[in-house]
Amino acid sequence: MKFADLHLHTFFSDGTFSPEELAGHGARLGFAALALTDHDSVEGCARMAAACDAAGMEFIAGTELTAEYNDTELHLLGYFLDTQNQKLLTEIAKFQSVRQNRIREMVTRLNELNVPLEVGSVFALANCKSPGRPHVARALVKAGFCRTNDEAFERFLKKNRPAWVPKAKMSALEGVELIHQAGGVAVMAHPGLNRTDEIIPALVEAGLDGIECFHTKHSTNAAERYLEIADKHHLLVTGGSDCHGFSKGKPLIGTVKLPYEHVEKLKAKAGKRKPRSGAVAAPSRN
Ligand code: AMP
Ligand code: ZN
Ligand code: FE
Ligand code: FE
Repeated sequence: MKFADLHLHTFFSDGTFSPEELAGHGARLGFAALALTDHDSVEGCARMAAACDAAGMEFIAGTELTAEYNDTELHLLGYFLDTQNQKLLTEIAKFQSVRQNRIREMVTRLNELNVPLEVGSVFALANCKSPGRPHVARALVKAGFCRTNDEAFERFLKKNRPAWVPKAKMSALEGVELIHQAGGVAVMAHPGLNRTDEIIPALVEAGLDGIECFHTKHSTNAAERYLEIADKHHLLVTGGSDCHGFSKGKPLIGTVKLPYEHVEKLKAKAGKRKPRSGAVAAPSRN
């Protein structure tokens, strides 16, 4: 049996592994294919592609976008993206800048709470264009203001906690369109975490291609429910560990093994959307 992990983060967003380390873990675990899905970034894809190639694994370029539909937050995974697509890169840059400003605001709030964390220490620790709350948590631990990342989230960073700042999100419909115009396939990430079941039909209407049925935080029951939903709406099925390296305890890669047949279906859909670069679509016979 061949397996894939289609949900992975590196230090180009809030994971702790380099692309090479992540590919090394994937190879040791026997994966046939890996997808990189850093938050609002495709920057790690070139290095990850090279590392996967060297290890004899297939690589799928992806990203994870934070979006909203009718005030419901959802995460959109894009797969088989053209990582040079100008509109994709422009939009991603915009959301990276939103992320950086949000870090500044969260640190200002912490300072007002008499936690003298320096914003420079967060950016130095994050050392990427797509910083997020896990970086603030790690900076709080490193500076001795919290004992653990969990404590940092519980006291300050979780939704509605005193240093939490809402994040400007793109509309889900624009997110799906952004992924499509970059040649990609659009998938709703971990629906079991965002409680997004009610909005699935509207997103299907807008062109959503798949849902992530298998995820570390989905129970067997949840996975089965989403397989049924995928079947009902003719959606592709994906799965991944959402490994962030050591950012959230121990590395999760290996906890989810998506049968490779699903990768083939994703690939077929991506192939229909965009002729491979340089290739000219063959004229149909009839
Ligand atoms: P952000 O994109 O800045 O909103 O941060 C989202 C990241 O923070 C995701 O990787 C989440 O898994 C992580 N996260 C969210 N809530 C918590 C929590 N309570 N404890 C640890 N990590 C969390
Ligand atoms: Zn993350
Ligand atoms: Fe997510
Ligand atoms: Fe993720």
